[in-house]
Amino acid sequence: MAEKFWETTALQDLTQLQWESLCDGCGKCCLHKLEDDETGEVYYTRVACKLLDVTTCRCTKYNERLQHVPDCIQLKPSDLDTFNWLPKTCAYRLVSEGKPLYKWHPLLAKKTKSTRSSTVKKGKSVADFALNEHDVDDLQDHIIHWVEI
Ligand code: SF4
Ligand code: SF4
Repeated sequence: MAEKFWETTALQDLTQLQWESLCDGCGKCCLHKLEDDETGEVYYTRVACKLLDVTTCRCTKYNERLQHVPDCIQLKPSDLDTFNWLPKTCAYRLVSEGKPLYKWHPLLAKKTKSTRSSTVKKGKSVADFALNEHDVDDLQDHIIHWVEI
């Protein structure tokens, strides 16, 4: 198995490639969220950003995404503490909290020829649950509780 670089190198010292590879491709952070104005509580919806392929859970225009979705959040090691809405399973959150990655994470799972990531194959992504924002009128109708934050 390749070196578990995320256990030996601080998040802020990872190379760009290592940082990107830490993402498990769950697609949860690409779901639209609603915030209660009074309590600040965040609610996930099952409505995904228009650029998310809801079958593979990949961003269809990752390199140019900010041109199309200016408010797409770019995670940075220095900002992790402020992302209180990241799902509990998010690899960046796990590592920042000193926790191990799940066995199904693509960096740990057995490599196969499948084009579907181990995260999708193990049912740990939003694939098959997410709706594209173009198909939805009101986000409030699609609040979900299965993304734990
Ligand atoms: S929630 Fe975390 S691990 Fe999942 S896609 Fe977003 S950044 Fe990647
Ligand atoms: S632009 Fe891409 S990475 Fe950003 S929220 Fe949309 S699908 Fe996700």
